[in-house]
Amino acid sequence: MLLRATSHQPLDLLLTARQIFLPSCGLPAAWAGQRQWRVLETGFGHGQNFLLTWQAWKTDPQRPQLLHVVSTDEDPLSAKNLLREAAVHPDLLPLAIQLCEQWYGLLPGFHRLVFEGGHVLLTLGIGDTKLLLKEQFFEADTVYLGGRNTPHNPNFGDPHTLKAVTRYCRRGTRLVCPTAASNVVDSLTKAGFEVHKAPGTIPQAAPLEACFNPHWEPKKAAQRNAPKPRTPSRCVVIGAGLAGAACAASLARRGWQVTVLDAQESAAGGASSLPVGMLAPHMSPDDSLLSRLSRNGLRATYQVAKEQLLADVDWQASGVLQRRFDGSGGLPIDWPEAGEHWSRLAGPAELSALETAIGSTRAPAQSDDIPALWHAAGGWIKPERLVRALLRTPGIAARYGAKIASLKRSTSSSPNGSWHLLDAEENCVAEAELVVLAAGFESAGLMPSECFMLQAIRGQVTWGLVTDASAMPPFPVNGHGSFIPAFLNDDGKRSWLMGATFERDNHHADIQEKDQQDIFKRLQQLLPATARALKYSFDAGETRAWAGVRCVSPDRLPIVGPLDDATLPGLCVCTALGSRGLSFAVLCGEVLAAWLHAEPLPIEKRLAQSLRASRYRFSE
Ligand SMILES: Cc1cc2nc3c(=O)[nH]c(=O)nc-3n(C[C@H](O)[C@H](O)[C@H](O)COP(=O)(O)OP(=O)(O)OC[C@H]3O[C@@H](n4cnc5c(N)ncnc54)[C@H](O)[C@@H]3O)c2cc1C
Repeated sequence: MLLRATSHQPLDLLLTARQIFLPSCGLPAAWAGQRQWRVLETGFGHGQNFLLTWQAWKTDPQRPQLLHVVSTDEDPLSAKNLLREAAVHPDLLPLAIQLCEQWYGLLPGFHRLVFEGGHVLLTLGIGDTKLLLKEQFFEADTVYLGGRNTPHNPNFGDPHTLKAVTRYCRRGTRLVCPTAASNVVDSLTKAGFEVHKAPGTIPQAAPLEACFNPHWEPKKAAQRNAPKPRTPSRCVVIGAGLAGAACAASLARRGWQVTVLDAQESAAGGASSLPVGMLAPHMSPDDSLLSRLSRNGLRATYQVAKEQLLADVDWQASGVLQRRFDGSGGLPIDWPEAGEHWSRLAGPAELSALETAIGSTRAPAQSDDIPALWHAAGGWIKPERLVRALLRTPGIAARYGAKIASLKRSTSSSPNGSWHLLDAEENCVAEAELVVLAAGFESAGLMPSECFMLQAIRGQVTWGLVTDASAMPPFPVNGHGSFIPAFLNDDGKRSWLMGATFERDNHHADIQEKDQQDIFKRLQQLLPATARALKYSFDAGETRAWAGVRCVSPDRLPIVGPLDDATLPGLCVCTALGSRGLSFAVLCGEVLAAWLHAEPLPIEKRLAQSLRASRYRFSE
């Protein structure tokens, strides 16, 4: 924390932060009229620098469209302590309350917290600043150099940390730091900063301001392998499912004029027309890439759901019980307390709630040899509601009944070239500088050249009305298949859903009778008492079926990002969301936007790179 409020002098120091700290970086004037402003902070501490910057953004009519703050902290305060600190300064309190609502599950690594409808983005890195700074990829406009207990913090003014920070600076990046100690001045000067003491400083908090202006030529973005940011213009997204809607929303928020095209007659007509889907973090003993991605994705989905959807109608963070039949998907060893927000071993409360609810003395999850996990952050959500909410983002227009057959590059109407999207008769349906292929399994066939392979996996679910609530588990249960016990269908009736079958290399979304039996067998194994109660509904044909086609990549991770700027400029992809589109889509939209604008990534660079389409062709 740059200017730490102590119990003796909180107001003075906060006042100082407000009067000196932001002006020392030339803010808010410096960001006037900019599309984006990117702040890098070392040491989130009590969060007051972030809150003050957010507040300044909120009240400034000249504010940039997007404010990014990337901040690090080795040992984040609890939400309770953050609030306590903010309480001494009432005008920051409403912002601090919003911050604390998202202040959960902060495991090591980056977490994206979203405010102001996605226009204020806090990317919080938990861990060692030097290591975290290897996992981002952007040019900072402002640097707040800090750290909790600044005079004692060993990282503060540490030349290695400064060197890492300098890699984020461009000529002209302004830096502010809470102390003008001589070692800090020396380190900053050696790193290429021109250093000044801030005017009007008070002895308790003598900030120092600096501007990156080395006497050598700093490496240009291209030399640092940094992507060249794009200027928003026209964009066409092919596909109005979860992937397309999420990309469209992320790009429209950054100023693109987005047209979403879909072959179907309305939004969410493909796999995203699933009546209701499950949200649950993926768990693995080594906390794999997929596991980390699933948590980041869940956070992103919940942020949209909380802001734009109706709780208990469109979605519910009910928690999910996972039965581990084959012992897979266990918790990592030394799973920290912060991880329990996401998942933990199921306790007696969940196991007996299950037993009580389904009226069985042999609740299967209670058996010693079948361990279960409790995904506290799990729940359910209706994909179509999420898609429609995302498509309501200002700047998006959608056109349906528009089936694209091919894409052609042209330089005739736009100096930097554009893409023409053609129908089966080769009529030009739309033209844009940027195209995002988000057509599920069809995405591969739309590419002008083969970049990656996709596999179609057909799946079917069964759903029906809840006629006997006592046969329903009190929360969704997954393991072998997944069961959602109570959601409101489109007629407002309480319904259950059991899924799903897996049929590889089948891209036909037809309903198959044999799948109904397969699903019933899965239910018998997952929840025997519920299966007994629902047997009549299955036998009497009182259930309904839905089928769709999942799309997966060879390594089962999503494919997100620009394809190849040299040979296919302006062509991007977002697909292969597999069986977790509800957890991945919103995050993938933000990852795509971050690559295109050279913005801070919402996840570690390593994770984001593992999603890039180019992973199949080039080494990064
Ligand atoms: C049985 C089943 C159960 C599932 N359960 C869950 C679950 O519980 N939780 C979860 O997170 N996920 C689940 N999923 C996965 C989830 O449904 C998908 O990951 C997600 O819907 C994929 O979204 P998408 O936008 O990539 O694809 P889609 O929703 O299929 O969207 C692609 C769109 O592209 C359009 N399109 C295709 N080709 C063209 C073209 N040439 N021109 C114009 N438009 C075109 C299509 O019409 C379609 O609307 C399940 C999937 C299935 C099949």
